[in-house]
Amino acid sequence: MKYEAVIGLEVHAQLLTETKIFCGCSTKFGSEPNTQTCPICIGMPGVLPVLNKKALEFVIKTGLAMNCRISPYSRFARKNYFYPDLPKGYQISQYELPICEHGFIEIIVNGEMKKIGITRIHIEEDAGKNIHEGTGNYSFVDLNRTGVPLMEIVSEPDIRSPQEASEYMKKLRAILRYLGVCDGNMEQGSLRCDANVSIRPEGQKEYGTRTEVKNINSFKFVEKALEYEIKRQIKVLEEGGKVIQETRLWDSTKGITESMRGKEEAHDYRYFPEPDLVPMIVERKWIDEIKSSLPELPDVKRERFVSEYGLPEYDADLLTDEKPLADWYEEATASYSLSVSGPKIISNWVKGELTRLLNEESKTIEECPLRPEQLADMLRLIDKGTISGKIAKIVFEEMYKTGKDAEEIVKEKGLIQITDESAIEKAVDEVISKNPKEVARFKAGEEKLMGFFVGQVMKLTKGKANPQMVNELLKKKLS
Ligand code: ADP
Ligand code: MG
Ligand code: ZN
Repeated sequence: MKYEAVIGLEVHAQLLTETKIFCGCSTKFGSEPNTQTCPICIGMPGVLPVLNKKALEFVIKTGLAMNCRISPYSRFARKNYFYPDLPKGYQISQYELPICEHGFIEIIVNGEMKKIGITRIHIEEDAGKNIHEGTGNYSFVDLNRTGVPLMEIVSEPDIRSPQEASEYMKKLRAILRYLGVCDGNMEQGSLRCDANVSIRPEGQKEYGTRTEVKNINSFKFVEKALEYEIKRQIKVLEEGGKVIQETRLWDSTKGITESMRGKEEAHDYRYFPEPDLVPMIVERKWIDEIKSSLPELPDVKRERFVSEYGLPEYDADLLTDEKPLADWYEEATASYSLSVSGPKIISNWVKGELTRLLNEESKTIEECPLRPEQLADMLRLIDKGTISGKIAKIVFEEMYKTGKDAEEIVKEKGLIQITDESAIEKAVDEVISKNPKEVARFKAGEEKLMGFFVGQVMKLTKGKANPQMVNELLKKKLS
C-alpha cells in the first residue's frame, strides 16, 4: 500500500522587541541567569500585566504579510499547567479569539507554486528555562526568558512531504526576517517548530491519527525528523498496529523520535479568559497604517527580479531569500547599468564568487567587506578590456580580502590585460614551436586541441593575454 503524509506545523517565533510582553524587563539574550526579571514576569501576587504595543504591532504585521484576517476584537486566555519554568502556574496566551486567522503563504515545490493555509497566529508569553546539564545533582531555573513575547503560527494540515515542510519553514523565516519581527535563528531557539504528522493510504480523504514531534531545532532536522516519523508510522500500520495520538521528542543524535507523553487535550489546560487584561480592540486605522508600512516581501521581490532584471526564477529566488542580499544585488546592478546582460552578470558574481567568499568565513551579507559599487567598477574594467574575465576572479578575491578598489589592485599586481599584438604573438609562437606533436594532430583535423593551445598561451602570459586576440592569432598561425 502507498501512503501519503499529512503535516501541519506549529511555529513559535520570538518577537524582536526590546522589552518583554507584559513588563519592562529586557529581552536580551545571553545575560546572567535571572538578572532580567521583575515581580510581573515572575508572577508575584498582586501585580498586573500591561501589554507591549510593539509586540502586538509585530504580530499584526506578520498576519498581514501572511494574508490573514486581523481580528478587530481579540483577547488573552490563561493556559494553566505546572512546570518549574513557569512560576505563575499559567501561561498568558490566546485561545478562542486569536489576533490573526485565515491566511496563507506560498511555497515553490518542484517548480510549482503551492499555497499553505495559516489557521491562526496568536500572541503569547514564553516560559523560563530549566537547566539540567553541568549542574551535578541539581537542576536550575533561569527566568530571563519568562515573559518574552512570542507568536505562534499554526498552519493548516496542507503540507504533504518533509521537503514541503522545509520549504514552508524557509519561506516563513524569510518573511519574518524581511519584516524584522524575528531573527529566525532556529539553533538559538528564537524560531521553534513542532511538527504534527499523520499518514493515510493514498486516495483516502480522512486524516489518520497524528503525532506531534517536538524539539526540532534546525532546518535540516525539520526534514529528518519528519522522514523518520513518517517511516515509523508506516511501519506501525504495516505491522497491524495503530498510531496513537501522542507527543514525541526528536533526538537529533540518535536520529529518531521517542514517545514523550500522551497528547494533552485543550480542556486539560482549563483555558479561561485572562481577567487581568482587557480584550484588545484593534482599530482599522492602525491596521491600515501597519499595512502601508510593510516592506516589499520575498515573493513580490522575486517576481520583480524576474520581470525587471530578466533573471531566471532560480537566480531571483536565491537573491531574494534575504533582504540584505537582495539590496546588495540591486545596488550593484544600479551602479552598473552598462549593458542589458548586466543584471545576469552581477547575479552570477553574487551567487558565485561573493557567496563562496562569504561562506568561507561564515559571514552574512551584512558583514560583507565589499561594497556593491566595487563590483560594478571591476566589471567596467572587464568591459574596457583592462582585465580579462579570468583575471577578474583574482581581482575580486583581492578586493574582498583587502578592501582596495579594483583599479588599484590591477596596477599594484600588474594584472593589466595584454592587448599588445606583438607580445601575444610572441607567446603564440613559443607555444606552437614547443608543441609540434599537437600542432600536427590539429592540422590533421583534431580541432578540439584549440582549447589546449589557448590554455598554454594563457599559462605563459599568467592569464593576462586578451583571450579573443589569442584565439584569432592561433587560428591564423595554425591554418
Ligand atoms: P493542538 O493545539 O492540540 O496541537 P491544533 O488543532 O491546534 O492542535 O492543531 C495543531 C496542528 O496540527 C495544526 O498545524 C494542524 O494543521 C495539524 N493537524 C491537525 N490534524 C492533523 C492530522 N490529522 N495530521 C497532521 N497534522 C494535523
Ligand atoms: Mg500542538
Ligand atoms: Zn519583568
